[in-house]
Amino acid sequence: MTIYNFSAGPAVLPKEVLLQAQAELLDWHGSGMSVMEMSHRGKEFTGIHAQAEADLRELMGIPANYKVLFLQGGAHLQFSMIPLNLLRGKASADYVNTGEWSKKAIGEARKFGAVNIVADNADRNCTYVPAFDTWQCDPNAAYLHYCPNETIGGVEFNWVPEVGNVPLVADMSSNILSRQIDVSKFGLIYAGAQKNIGPAGLTLVIVRNDLLGQAAANTPTMLDYKTHADAGSMYNTPPTYGIYIAGLVFQWLKKSGGIAAMEKINIAKADLLYAAIDASNGFYHCPVNKADRSRMNVPFTLQNTGTLKDAALDGDFLKQADARGLLQLKGHRSVGGMRASIYNAMPLAGVQALVDFMNEFSGQHG
Ligand SMILES: *Cc1c(COP(=O)(O)O)cnc(C)c1O
Repeated sequence: MTIYNFSAGPAVLPKEVLLQAQAELLDWHGSGMSVMEMSHRGKEFTGIHAQAEADLRELMGIPANYKVLFLQGGAHLQFSMIPLNLLRGKASADYVNTGEWSKKAIGEARKFGAVNIVADNADRNCTYVPAFDTWQCDPNAAYLHYCPNETIGGVEFNWVPEVGNVPLVADMSSNILSRQIDVSKFGLIYAGAQKNIGPAGLTLVIVRNDLLGQAAANTPTMLDYKTHADAGSMYNTPPTYGIYIAGLVFQWLKKSGGIAAMEKINIAKADLLYAAIDASNGFYHCPVNKADRSRMNVPFTLQNTGTLKDAALDGDFLKQADARGLLQLKGHRSVGGMRASIYNAMPLAGVQALVDFMNEFSGQHG
């Protein structure tokens, strides 16, 4: 039976990448060593690291005045590193609140300075992106932080805020590499690797050079971006195996036609799944505003009367899905129902298998 893993993260990796890692596990390219056993300063690993960075720069079109950092601590540590490094003595930072991950970033930033919430979608249960003309931005803000894809709520921006000279900071943990973006519009982009890049334990930061070297005076050395930028992410031992797997994922993306080609497939996958939800006469329901629906994380509930969620039906759905090899579809505890995460590495055939099952299931119960 073919298994399709819809986990929100750590998430599915391309099979080709896992097979290559398996083939190279004990002996990387005739070195006689596993990548896990190599010195991070040896020529083998420095080559792996440099290739991964070069491939990422090519895929995303990262301009030369940006540093690419391979760090640890997850997206969560970025919630603190960003204010520590980017407040730069300014009075406050702007934050957009579109859901659970925005809230976590905001809560942490408040420990370091004043936070100005420029827009909020709590009035409709975090199910939409607030229109830009309603945002109350501060032209003197140290930076503006937002989460382009709320992994839990399934709300995604299909546009980039135009904030003038205020550095734009984005938590792209769950949609990086899934769509084309213009990196030059951002001051800093960050992402935990475990959704669309590679294994957990690696965090990617892309930061514009002029934002480095202005961290608060008491910033721990390890939390200062400049430490890692100056040392080429080798100040201390980096997450070497994670960087290696990320590099294989970048090569897989290049072979697949790059981000433009991946974006087309991602649109086709998301369209297929949302169409099935919308055609179900209310049996399945996605609470997110249509224009703001995520291409990566698709939350939906099961309803039997169109108003009441039937939790027993949820259990039955998950059990039958599991039996078919459609795994990890249970929704986040704060939203309930189901969530299908359909990152880059989820093939169209996986989404088709899910849709076929959903149609059959609603046929049995509708
Ligand atoms: C998963 C996720 C996080 C948390 O990432 P960690 O690496 O576990 O800290 C933060 N933000 C978004 C948008 C996420 O999807």
